[in-house]
Amino acid sequence: MTPSTSAQEKVPTQLGIRLDNISKKYGEHVVLDDVSLHVEPGSVTALIGPSGAGKSTFLRCINLLERPDSGTIQVDHHTIHPGKSVNPKDLAALRRTVGMVFQSFNLFPHMSVLNNISFPQQRVLGKSREEADARSMQLLERVGLEEKAAAHPGRCSGGQQQRIAIARALALDPSIMLFDEPTSAIDPEVGLEVLAVMRELASDGMTMLVVTHEMQFARDVSDTLVVMADCKIIEQGDPRAIMTDPQEARTRRFLRAVLER
Ligand code: ADP
Repeated sequence: MTPSTSAQEKVPTQLGIRLDNISKKYGEHVVLDDVSLHVEPGSVTALIGPSGAGKSTFLRCINLLERPDSGTIQVDHHTIHPGKSVNPKDLAALRRTVGMVFQSFNLFPHMSVLNNISFPQQRVLGKSREEADARSMQLLERVGLEEKAAAHPGRCSGGQQQRIAIARALALDPSIMLFDEPTSAIDPEVGLEVLAVMRELASDGMTMLVVTHEMQFARDVSDTLVVMADCKIIEQGDPRAIMTDPQEARTRRFLRAVLER
């Protein structure tokens, strides 16, 4: 079938994430063994698996916080071959596309909450202080924390700090958000506030890849569940199908251990 003219003319604004044949060793220790994953634009992928499986390293490889030894990374329209020499301009462009939220929030303790969100916009996007502050206030409202603008991060709970970290990442207008166990360093009760913000982002159509142990979030919010063990993806597909009827013994063992916790 010939595509219609309008389909041919339509240039996709987002291509999602495509990771092909990513391998990484620390010395002789293999951490990622030929891992490939595609995250569709506008979809949410939850990445689960036992500790030491390579999940965090895999996530950090996407914006080259860890450099893979080989493979191809494609984020939106940016492609990088990390095994070859990487043009710093290409790397900067790719990093601009990817927002990242870590387990530890990494906020600047000596800056106000507002400045934590405005500072990167001034540095990276070249915005004026006024422009940056206006956007920061919008985002603080979005994560329900406008009243904390003048406070220092130390005066905020763990859940609030993580929501501020999410606002800071969103302030650079990424087309993709990566989350590395965003609730594991905070109390479960305030973790719910963070998960609520993430649910909202997902329903707004943000492309998200989330390393998590929150099985309810993974089941309810993600479109695809990916299970990693021993440096590889061992299973992926519909979250509910995998949780009720895992195909791999390793997945079954992991799910049993997590659900019995
Ligand atoms: P997960 O996120 O699934 O718990 P990680 O990606 O953190 O797994 O770690 C995978 C493996 O890589 C582990 O064996 C870990 O000890 C090792 N590893 C992670 N970071 C480093 C590093 N900087 N140097 C050496 N080994 C590392």
